[in-house]
Amino acid sequence: MTQLFIRQLAVGPMQNFAYLVGDAQAKKVAVVDPGWDADTIFAEAKGAGVEIVAVLITHTHFDHIKAIEKLLNHAPVPVYVHRLEVGQLPRISNIVTTDEGTTMTIGSLTVRCHHTPGHSPGCQCFDVGAVREPPLLFTGDTLFIDACGRTDLPGSDPNAMHRSLKRLAHFPPETIVYPGHDYGPTPTATIGEQLKTNSFLREAAGS
Ligand SMILES: [Zn+2]
Repeated sequence: MTQLFIRQLAVGPMQNFAYLVGDAQAKKVAVVDPGWDADTIFAEAKGAGVEIVAVLITHTHFDHIKAIEKLLNHAPVPVYVHRLEVGQLPRISNIVTTDEGTTMTIGSLTVRCHHTPGHSPGCQCFDVGAVREPPLLFTGDTLFIDACGRTDLPGSDPNAMHRSLKRLAHFPPETIVYPGHDYGPTPTATIGEQLKTNSFLREAAGS
């Protein structure tokens, strides 16, 4: 039975979260949103004895990808980014474009991409599941704990955000939300909890 490996790392001056997620037995992990600080990410992986095998990008705002070139210099792994935001990445090799429903494997785990535009056109969430463990959902700047991402930026779309939040509201209530920033009262929460305390998610769910 696969065991999930998960680390939530606070990086940079904008309360970003980067993540290591993967297969604890195979000791293979993906980095979600390598913002700011490649050294912190490497140190965590090294300390835990896991190998970085992929980079997953929720969206290409600078605070989520700032460490990508340094990271790739040390670990030349595939970088998964939504097709609508490939043009926003720096010039790097190993780009794999994703779309709604794209899957990838990390060890024996399957990661699935969910296109959730609104904050930016190519925002995506990643869900990761293992038998007898609650699913994990990496929500980037779409869903924060008790808030949602800004929709007043170039490329934002409030109506699309509403539809994306409605989708996320239908994930199983035990799903654990791992947001792109530490803006809430807690660093994580479940979808079920968020349906009670996150007015944006609740409103979208009931619409
Ligand atoms: Zn953003």
